[in-house]
Amino acid sequence: MKVTTADIVISAVRPNQYPDTQFPEIALAGRSNVGKSSFINKMLNRKALARTSSKPGKTQTLNFFLINEQLFYVDVPGYGYAKVSKKEREAWGKMIETYITTREQLRAVILLVDLRHSPTEDDVMMYDFLKHYQIPVIIVATKADKIPKGKWDKHAKVVREKLQIEEGDELILFSSETGMGKEKAWSVIDRMCK
Ligand code: GDP
Repeated sequence: MKVTTADIVISAVRPNQYPDTQFPEIALAGRSNVGKSSFINKMLNRKALARTSSKPGKTQTLNFFLINEQLFYVDVPGYGYAKVSKKEREAWGKMIETYITTREQLRAVILLVDLRHSPTEDDVMMYDFLKHYQIPVIIVATKADKIPKGKWDKHAKVVREKLQIEEGDELILFSSETGMGKEKAWSVIDRMCK
């Protein structure tokens, strides 16, 4: 997809704050620091549209980005911060669960993991949670440029096996530095938003 416009439209916590539109939505989830903001910015050809916004203490919201007046990226606050309080964690969980289980416009979730490491227990939990609700998942393994090409397959296999990726769910190796995986990611997103 050729991105001509991309703007943040709304930050929402509750369903009555979600945009009142029928555009398809693709949500993005991943642990903090995985490269989610970099992924969004690369996909949308922007330098700083998405920021690392999920630091503890900051308001945890779902951020809706409208792209080409035809689809939304929904940025989900990152997980896995050790310092987050139990109360904050619960509020986060409730917000995600409500969105995932009620939002008819949701077509797929992009789950970002770091290609360099085996997925964390939080990553596994998130994938299982999404599969429990039968949400199509696109796994994007970030920071591929930090691994030599000859080791990509081996690392991809670790991700596949640790998450036990179901048939039909794509795994895309990605780099926001080189743009690797960008076209593939767009073609999968386009297919799911048809
Ligand atoms: P977020 O917390 O998931 O939004 O993560 P960020 O997008 O802020 O990225 C966290 C750090 O990883 C930053 O220092 C980025 O520059 C770096 N980073 C993200 N993606 C890549 C990538 O594909 N390659 C490399 N080399 N660094 C990356």
